Amino acid sequence: MTGAKYKRILVKLSGEALLGSTDFGIDPVVIKRIASEIIEIQQTGVQVACVIGGGNIFRGSGLAKAGLDRVTGDHMGMLATVMNALAMQDAIEKLGGNARVQSAVRINQVCEDYIRRRAMRHLEKGRVVIFAAGTGNPFFTTDSAAALRAIEIGADVLLKATKVNGIYDSDPMKNADAKRYKTLTYDKVLADKLNVMDATAIVMCRDNHMPLTVFNLNNAGDLPRVVRGEDIGTVVTSD
Ligand code: UDP
Repeated sequence: MTGAKYKRILVKLSGEALLGSTDFGIDPVVIKRIASEIIEIQQTGVQVACVIGGGNIFRGSGLAKAGLDRVTGDHMGMLATVMNALAMQDAIEKLGGNARVQSAVRINQVCEDYIRRRAMRHLEKGRVVIFAAGTGNPFFTTDSAAALRAIEIGADVLLKATKVNGIYDSDPMKNADAKRYKTLTYDKVLADKLNVMDATAIVMCRDNHMPLTVFNLNNAGDLPRVVRGEDIGTVVTSD
């Protein structure tokens, strides 16, 4: 792979992305494929950070609906993201890459604590940094964590992995005539309530001029293609 468009990227992977063909947990084939694409990008000299969700294991809102205290549920959700991050670290290292997990909640017998300057040093040394436990606070999502970390580490772009090829004017899974946007502004995403990331994450990106590209993780090879700047997915910017 040659001709990367970016120097430093942050990839947001949802927990669901790791499900593959399983109902719960992690599909080893899928995580291996994603890990190999991350290494492919990293080997071209692009610094790669990831934020991983936990929805394949626990979501605080779902647990709260089932009767659990919301904050406890969110703590469980954050711990679920740590499990996914450890699995991704393992998958990357099994393929010969270097990775470090940094958690926003202290669990430092298992992984590093989140320390911004240390994360940036890992990136400079060619290690993939996987940010776990979201923002470390209940009532937030890992999309907001992805926006926050991308801004903090000075990423050139936030790449949000989804199950479709970008942002559509209606749900392409339900409406065959749904139209894909090539480019959009954050204000339009908010005004039209386009289902991309939660509003907190969108506003953070908008206010800090963090470009966002939404791409289809299920299309093998699309992640490296997006990093090369190919015209796939949807690009969201402030202007
Ligand atoms: N979570 C949280 N604070 C954060 C990020 C995540 O409390 O800053 C919890 C929340 O309960 C959430 C769960 O962790 O439902 C898993 O994250 P998310 O739903 O964002 O995962 P994804 O949908 O990306 O798999």
